[in-house]
Amino acid sequence: MEKVKCPLCGALDISKVTSEVRFGLKANVDRCNTCTLNFLDQDSFQYPKDFYEAEYHQTYLTHVEPASFDPKSYYDKMLRATAPWAERFRALLTGKEKVLDVGCSTGHFIELIKDKCAEVYGHDLNVKEVEFARDVLGLNVDNIELNQRFGEGSFDYITMIYVLEHIADPKSFLAYLRKFLKPGGKMVILVPNIQDPLVNLFDIPEFRTFYYCIEHLYYYNQKTMNDLFAQCGLAGEVQVLQEYPLANHLNWAYTRKPADTLAARRGVPGVDLALGVPHTDWEQLWRDINEVYKTFLYNHGYGDRLWAVVG
Ligand SMILES: [Zn+2]
Repeated sequence: MEKVKCPLCGALDISKVTSEVRFGLKANVDRCNTCTLNFLDQDSFQYPKDFYEAEYHQTYLTHVEPASFDPKSYYDKMLRATAPWAERFRALLTGKEKVLDVGCSTGHFIELIKDKCAEVYGHDLNVKEVEFARDVLGLNVDNIELNQRFGEGSFDYITMIYVLEHIADPKSFLAYLRKFLKPGGKMVILVPNIQDPLVNLFDIPEFRTFYYCIEHLYYYNQKTMNDLFAQCGLAGEVQVLQEYPLANHLNWAYTRKPADTLAARRGVPGVDLALGVPHTDWEQLWRDINEVYKTFLYNHGYGDRLWAVVG
């Protein structure tokens, strides 16, 4: 068998992280000891055929996210889950920009930004979701090759919200996408950060087998994300951010199981309060706790997301 090589730096000093991934599947996750990239050995498993076109949200993810089976219910949910990232992106917009959202799924991110863009387009492989975004929401979304729809130098921004970690060959993918940016245009990229406190601060084996999964081929940290961009001639800022609140981490620590997508993102523990207890004070307490917690995490080099703006 051929020795595994780091797909980012090419080094051969590789350690095994795990061979047990989400849903009881087997695939090797490795770590490059030279550049620190964690990655899934793409020769160690085989994607189901038409995975993204027909299976990913329809049969695979429904184990933890039943709403993903139906584009409308998934859209409703993701509209809320994606709102903080749309808000962050909206701060970059003036209203004159032409934007392409790659891996747009049901169009929830587009829906949240469209009133602040001159024009916005979406691309996705999932047939049911593309049809939903186009036919139900009326968005300009398609699954055909980008070069059949757009000329080079078309966009001010290309956004990828939880997409790049799924891409088998990110260097050629980014090089391809870059051609569609106007001079001075930027890519806005959100990916999970391997420096997630649930992976590296807490010792919760059940979380790790949930975290590593066949759809995530690359597990970037701030350094390896910057390394990738440098290799592609892209430059800009890569920020470490914490999305999930303390209540979600405690849920994992106590139950060893994931919570519902929206419940997990709520900063307040899911307990009913006795009659007459002031909700606003209780919610303010948890906002304060989460801010203190985030500061603690950032000071110790943790954060579950990487947000990059590069061009
Ligand atoms: Zn490496």
